[in-house]
Amino acid sequence: MSKIIDGKLISTMIKDELKEEVALLKTQGIHPGLAVILVGDNSASQVYVGNKKKACEYVGIKSFSYELPIETPEADLLELIDTLNRDDQVHGVLVQLPLPKHMDEQKVIMRISPAKDVDGFHPQSVGALSIGLPGFVSCTPAGIIELLKRSHVDIVGKNCVVVGRSNIVGKPVSLLLLREHGTVTICHSRTNNLTDILQQADIVVAAVGIPKFIKGEQLKADAVVIDVGMNRDENGKLCGDVDFDSAKDHVAAITPVPGGVGPMTIAMLMKNCVLAAKSNHC
Ligand code: NDP
Repeated sequence: MSKIIDGKLISTMIKDELKEEVALLKTQGIHPGLAVILVGDNSASQVYVGNKKKACEYVGIKSFSYELPIETPEADLLELIDTLNRDDQVHGVLVQLPLPKHMDEQKVIMRISPAKDVDGFHPQSVGALSIGLPGFVSCTPAGIIELLKRSHVDIVGKNCVVVGRSNIVGKPVSLLLLREHGTVTICHSRTNNLTDILQQADIVVAAVGIPKFIKGEQLKADAVVIDVGMNRDENGKLCGDVDFDSAKDHVAAITPVPGGVGPMTIAMLMKNCVLAAKSNHC
């Protein structure tokens, strides 16, 4: 039986550490604040935003919530971001994606001050990550590295295979694994011989978006598997990009879905907010 990497437990540990840090910051007059903007009534987004608010409450971060109707003009959203960029009580600004079709996501992300870009999606944050400068690292990739480190998985020199090359998961997690001295291979929909590559992998990060796409027999027996996928299977049940049933007795360690990477994403968002509050007060 593989070791199950418990993201829920690790994320709670992180949030508990942050809770203590926030309490200390408050004694120094620093009250971390996060503004979350939701446009429209996408039900999944509403759940994500609700979870972020709950995490803020738990850690002691003040959350400022903005729920805008779907027909809000892009200019109004940009104006709200400008206001929040100037607000001293707000240390992090987050716009929940996806946005309605009439809005240009890239333009909206670029409007957030890089000093408050706690999602780490601003090109300045992405650029800083790619050349090894300090900056906000996007939350899911940062959470993956934290999961590996807190599970005592050695990354140095290891063959790390990332399946998926999206801007929000695949690319940034590849850069982070490289920063940790892993030997990184990035696979995508045009990759030939995926199974051959997977069979060389000491660490696999699956961020494909296809339910149960990677099977246990494609993986090495001593592999550590981080499953980022959040999909619904044929019965509507939440599942990952890795076929957990065939992998769980086959590999050294694996994250479950749910309860693996998901909770880490929110914990790292809280961590970025605290970092933002501290840096904005330097
Ligand atoms: P995207 O759809 O943006 O990217 C998917 C990637 O998978 C693409 O790079 C694509 O390649 C690649 N891919 C598709 N088909 C294949 C294939 N047959 N073989 C190899 N690679 C393939 O997804 P995201 O990165 O946004 O998300 C991935 C998953 O992670 C989703 O299930 C999502 O819900 C989940 N997720 C979970 C989060 C969490 O907090 N737990 C946060 C973010 C995402 P190509 O570039 O060539 O098209």
